[in-house]
Amino acid sequence: MRGHLSNGLRYVVLPNNVPGERFEAHLEMHVGSVDEREDEQGLAHLVEHVTFLGSKKRDAWLGSGTRGNAYTDFHHTVFHVHSPTYNKDTTYMLPNVLDILYDVAFNPQLLETRTTKEKKAVLAEAQMMNTIEYRVDCQLLQHLHWDNNLGCRFPIGKLDQVSGWDAANVRAFHERWYFPANATLYVVGDFDADVPAVVEMIEAAFGAAVPAVVDAGSAAGAAPTNATVEATAEATIQASTVSETQNQIPEIKTRNPKETEPNTCNVKPHTPNPRP
Ligand SMILES: [Zn+2]
Repeated sequence: MRGHLSNGLRYVVLPNNVPGERFEAHLEMHVGSVDEREDEQGLAHLVEHVTFLGSKKRDAWLGSGTRGNAYTDFHHTVFHVHSPTYNKDTTYMLPNVLDILYDVAFNPQLLETRTTKEKKAVLAEAQMMNTIEYRVDCQLLQHLHWDNNLGCRFPIGKLDQVSGWDAANVRAFHERWYFPANATLYVVGDFDADVPAVVEMIEAAFGAAVPAVVDAGSAAGAAPTNATVEATAEATIQASTVSETQNQIPEIKTRNPKETEPNTCNVKPHTPNPRP
């Protein structure tokens, strides 16, 4: 069952009782490294670290059998959680997990101390990834995607840029991309609740997330365009059982930086040597 909240957050709920007494929740933010500006290379990944690892609420999972992780790729930043339906203290975990995912994505602290810490983690991660296979993959992508940003916006970014950022950079990127209409929540598993009840829990956890603010300009001086959120994917939405939701995604005015980002790859297409 698919639907969306009035703030634009899309959700997919899939009951699945095998294996029983467990569920997963994945919050996908539709932002990744290709959305970074030229001076933001690696920022999507750093924001993922600071939001996810900076959440104090995640401490509630300790010892509960709940596991969470996150990743950033070219197009997405995903926070995912695997949890027993009830923890050892018989706490019902679904509302708890949804609340924490809300906290991570839409209510993070984005502190300077956490940013400093996660910059170190990201730089260490880059060191570990820097293998010959990785460098070959990068070369390959640069040539395959010479005409778009896939060829030059690797999620790990540019290390000299990463080391120069502070919490203000993290906040600016977060503000530009982390809004409910730019997110899809997937919950699948044994909920011990029917779908309308799960939807109510989603509403309770995420309903407070504020839609994106229409901004007159941006710090980098780019010319943002006001655009309405695309509703194409919504054509397939089934009639919602929650009366206040409708079949059309609400028109949420927002900046659409995707339309303003030029291709900044400076890698030229590979042309084979002409035959003599
Ligand atoms: Zn990482």
